[in-house]
Amino acid sequence: NARVMFAARPEDYPIPGKTTVYDTSETIDLENAPLNGGILVKVLVVSVDPYMRGRMRGPEHKSYIPAFQLGQPMNGGGIGVVLRSEIAEVAVGSHVRGFLSYQQYVVAPSMAGLEVIEKDPKLNWSVYLGAAGMPGRTAFMGWREYARAKKGEVAFISTGAGPVGSMVIQIAKEDGLKVIASAGTDEKVKFMKEIGADVAFNYKTTSVREVLEKEGPVDIYWDNVGGETLDAAMEFANMHARFIECGQISGYNTGPKPMKNPTHMVFKCLSFHGFLVGFLEPKYKAAFTAEVVPKVASGEYKYTEDLTRGLDKLGHALLALLEGTNTGKGVVVVADE
Ligand code: NDP
Repeated sequence: NARVMFAARPEDYPIPGKTTVYDTSETIDLENAPLNGGILVKVLVVSVDPYMRGRMRGPEHKSYIPAFQLGQPMNGGGIGVVLRSEIAEVAVGSHVRGFLSYQQYVVAPSMAGLEVIEKDPKLNWSVYLGAAGMPGRTAFMGWREYARAKKGEVAFISTGAGPVGSMVIQIAKEDGLKVIASAGTDEKVKFMKEIGADVAFNYKTTSVREVLEKEGPVDIYWDNVGGETLDAAMEFANMHARFIECGQISGYNTGPKPMKNPTHMVFKCLSFHGFLVGFLEPKYKAAFTAEVVPKVASGEYKYTEDLTRGLDKLGHALLALLEGTNTGKGVVVVADE
């Protein structure tokens, strides 16, 4: 039963083979392993996400989600097929999505943190971890709750080619906004233009300040990165602009930088809305399922995926995402049906 262990806390970037270790020492008897009233799941796909870096912290740092335990398998969003079940409502052959250990087979003692899920035949399971999953929900729910978007306003979206940012771009365009979007490679810039960004640029080769000075002022800033990009968005924000604080990935590996000029918050009457998608789910989950997932399935909403095959590559996929060399939603394909 191959799995990915959390083996050492990283100093800055997590090192495959050191921080994350592929381990094949455990076996499982698929026919007879005791389920103790639960289910046996064959894992098909697992998600690779920026927040996983935060879970590599030491126990002394408190956060909204438990830290990974040293010497234990990593876990996170995944989807699998049920091989055996002692839960009446969960049929063998059905699929479950939710928190799963990053290993080939998982015995889940209950459905806590899991849901039975059905798939549109046009989509692969991986999409239910991306555009039709948690990142898509983050974009849709955060925007709906906090954007207060008005037609003709200007939105700026960082990490605009990722699963969260690319969905935000498409929703903001539907709402009739002018969209400025940034990402770290020219290939990602091309994708952001394809999905409707009016102005798309590579922040590694183009000054964020210069773009915002020319194309702003910004009414809504969807922040995925924090740091200097956030400073620039505050400098070129309009009066009463809304800042949706979704993530601050520029500080995840090397620590956050202090805000350069917080006084903009006062003089420009800015609103800052930090949020975690989990808290918005009860309010918007039904709307997401009814409105967003069908548009993903029909091709109206576009997405990119960065699929890696095999749990032995999970550490590399996570590092690629944290370094920005990934090219879409990070998913590790563990097995076929
Ligand atoms: P992605 O799959 O797009 O991967 C992360 C991307 O971040 C990289 O591809 C890279 O893109 C960019 N990046 C990496 N390092 C830096 C850096 N130092 N400075 C600027 N950009 C960097 O991520 P997601 O779409 O899954 O997530 C986007 C953001 O949303 C993250 O901050 C994440 O933590 C947050 N998030 C928040 C949630 C919530 O509930 N609040 C839920 C889900 C995600 P590039 O090439 O553009 O640099």
